[in-house]
Amino acid sequence: MEFKYETHLHTMQGSACGKAPGRDYIAKYMDLGYDGIIVTDHFFHGNCRPNRELPWDQWVTEYCRGYEDAAEEGYRRGFKVFFGLEERFDLWDEWLVYGLTKEYMLAHPGMRDWTRMQWLEHVHAAGGCAVQCHPFRQAGYMSRDGHMAPCLAVDGVEVCNSGNQPAWDAQAARYARNMLPDIFHSAGSDIHHPDDRQGDQVFGVAFDQPLFSVQDYVQAVLHNTPHRLIVSPGRDDPDQPLEEPTLPMTVLDRECRPTALTLRDVLGDYHERV
Ligand SMILES: [Zn+2]
Ligand SMILES: [Zn+2]
Repeated sequence: MEFKYETHLHTMQGSACGKAPGRDYIAKYMDLGYDGIIVTDHFFHGNCRPNRELPWDQWVTEYCRGYEDAAEEGYRRGFKVFFGLEERFDLWDEWLVYGLTKEYMLAHPGMRDWTRMQWLEHVHAAGGCAVQCHPFRQAGYMSRDGHMAPCLAVDGVEVCNSGNQPAWDAQAARYARNMLPDIFHSAGSDIHHPDDRQGDQVFGVAFDQPLFSVQDYVQAVLHNTPHRLIVSPGRDDPDQPLEEPTLPMTVLDRECRPTALTLRDVLGDYHERV
């Protein structure tokens, strides 16, 4: 018996790029045999839906509506819905944060300006964790100043993201094996509408034990509890041939400071693009 969870999901109430309300995801994931989802809408410096000019309490209230909408429908149908968020930093790097609450956010308006290190310190003090998502994404929306900033300070790394091209996940899987072999590796769909992902393109993580709260997921990440990645075949294979990444990269160290590590340092030998 295994228990499956979506770790990366966007609603239209919290994310400007979300295309469905939170409640619309419940039937899909129940049909797929999942035990729960974690709503991770784009936070203040990401593609959030609420206007950033709003007073903080109103911004937080609006931001949480997608999660609350999903949680209400989940409660009605006996399906677990947990809260998370996705914040973006200045090198286009994005982290999934689990274990904070609406009450915590209302009490911490300064979180809008936290650095990566401040996020880690505060989130750990609050009993949460941070997972870097899609560390090797090289998407068109990242525009002229696109960058990759894999960070060695996080609690986990998302090695498979269904919104990525498989080549970027191959690089992430190789990076995670080489540089962060002992922390939690995750997979998620980065889904923005229930019809976005079908069949083996719905990703996630599976455990032998059910999660009863987001705290159980945080503990699984922090202790690197044995789990299975729900991904399409071969997607998380760190030994597959790699393409040359197309964006510049800065590896951040355990204090989130830039290092001089190169692609070859973190990926090892990879196939050059012809
Ligand atoms: Zn989005
Ligand atoms: Zn996302």
